[in-house]
Amino acid sequence: MRTYSSCLICKSPSPQGVESHGRLFFHCGHCDYIFQSPETRLSFEQERRRYLEHNNDLRDLRYLKYLEKTWLQVGPLPSGSVVLDYGCGPTKGLEKLLQPRYRVLSYDPIFWPQDLQMEFGKVDVIFCSEVIEHAFFPTRVFDHWNQLLRPGGLITLRTCFHPEMDKMRDWWYASDETHIGFFSQCTFEFIAKKWGWQLNKVHNPYVFATGPLIVH
Ligand SMILES: [Zn+2]
Repeated sequence: MRTYSSCLICKSPSPQGVESHGRLFFHCGHCDYIFQSPETRLSFEQERRRYLEHNNDLRDLRYLKYLEKTWLQVGPLPSGSVVLDYGCGPTKGLEKLLQPRYRVLSYDPIFWPQDLQMEFGKVDVIFCSEVIEHAFFPTRVFDHWNQLLRPGGLITLRTCFHPEMDKMRDWWYASDETHIGFFSQCTFEFIAKKWGWQLNKVHNPYVFATGPLIVH
């Protein structure tokens, strides 16, 4: 069976190959992360086209309800709180849902790229719904979040947790070819430890965490 040089999250050597929907992924036995190798990624234009096909049209009420369902679990915040929708897609759904109650920053590396350096240390909540499974380098994303969050700011993340290896072959979530990284409770426990987060609630497909209390 093929192996990859090292895990893209925890750097452990030789993650083992596992197939799903005809694509080759690698599974880390240490942190339980499953990923497709970055060398096989789609081109920028192919990715962009695929995302435009995703069902996140604001006219689609189901999409807004879906975002709201995740958001309601964050709970009420003081008005004027800064919320960052990380990977907002083409429609900036959360911004439409929450403004003007909160100050919502919409960021997307493909549709709304912007330099967020001015916001470092100011963000109260990072909201990341159905996005992290698209990231080829999730550690860069988590580094970025730690720069953006104010001390003790919140992280809200939604992504489907992967099943056992013998169920991967036909797992529906991996059939989307832009889904290239899959996590589990074990992976998030590793991430929390490494990035200094406190996990408040983890239940598939949600992760609620508090970011580092001291920002270096
Ligand atoms: Zn790992």
